[in-house]
Amino acid sequence: MITINSYVKPESLEEAYELNQKRANRILGGMMWMRLGSGRVQTAIDLSGMGLDQIEESEEEFKIGCMCTLRQLELHKGINQYTDGAVRECVRHIVGVQFRNQATVGGSIFGRFGFSDVLTCFLAMDCYVELYKGGIVPLREFVCQKRDRDILVNVIIRKDVRKIRYVSSRRTKTDFPVIACGVAKAGEEWQVSVGARPMKAVLVTEKADERNAAEIAEKLTEQVTFGSNMRGSSEYRKALAKVLIRRQIEALMEEC
Ligand SMILES: Cc1cc2nc3c(=O)[nH]c(=O)nc-3n(C[C@H](O)[C@H](O)[C@H](O)COP(=O)(O)OP(=O)(O)OC[C@H]3O[C@@H](n4cnc5c(N)ncnc54)[C@H](O)[C@@H]3O)c2cc1C
Repeated sequence: MITINSYVKPESLEEAYELNQKRANRILGGMMWMRLGSGRVQTAIDLSGMGLDQIEESEEEFKIGCMCTLRQLELHKGINQYTDGAVRECVRHIVGVQFRNQATVGGSIFGRFGFSDVLTCFLAMDCYVELYKGGIVPLREFVCQKRDRDILVNVIIRKDVRKIRYVSSRRTKTDFPVIACGVAKAGEEWQVSVGARPMKAVLVTEKADERNAAEIAEKLTEQVTFGSNMRGSSEYRKALAKVLIRRQIEALMEEC
């Protein structure tokens, strides 16, 4: 059980950041993951009073506040039109509607969880995180960074001419994925993120040339390291990933 000694709802990010520099203090997202942990938190820092629960769309980008919920992503017309439903697909298996009404985008991305559908899908887009002190960092760099005490303020999806699809495989409905893949055709390149390996998602690329989908999927899968856990062996994950990636490439080849 997690024990929280005191609770603060800061009015500014500076105040939240200062509080978060103490190791015993913690930022709260939706608390859906954190509440399963144990230990003592001195001060819980609630970011919900700063209007960070909005999704703004402009001609160039979507700016998603860290306190937006997974349900907001699922229902957002602009994001799902731009991604052809890929973002909806990546969150729709996560537990249930009530859960998705609470779990936040900030907690999901900052956590950099190995099983994360959200991280996997966002990695296949031209995506950035805006950190309070660290500034705007490409998601593909942020994924590899060591966890620090900064605050994730916004997640930014830049609009480009890519086509994207998202697919995951689960042993049973609402379980964590055994494997998750985001497949994007961005100009002359295939950009593919593979998550739930079971390590956190990675991005691999291949030139989009005359090769068929099976050859490209084979080359992409070769670049990924897979591991084993209770949900599946590394060999099983690799076999699944190859098939899922090939199918998405075939579908995108037909569309483009
Ligand atoms: C039973 C269960 C099943 C799940 N299944 C899936 C699944 O199938 N697929 C999937 O993708 N996810 C799954 N998740 C994860 C879930 O979708 C969320 O990613 C997770 O709950 C974290 O989001 P949260 O808002 O609850 O964050 P919290 O639990 O509140 O926070 C998580 C961590 O991030 C930190 N944090 C939160 N917000 C910020 C911020 N803005 N800046 C800096 N640090 C921050 C917190 O301090 C904490 O360390 C599951 C979770 C649970 C509990």
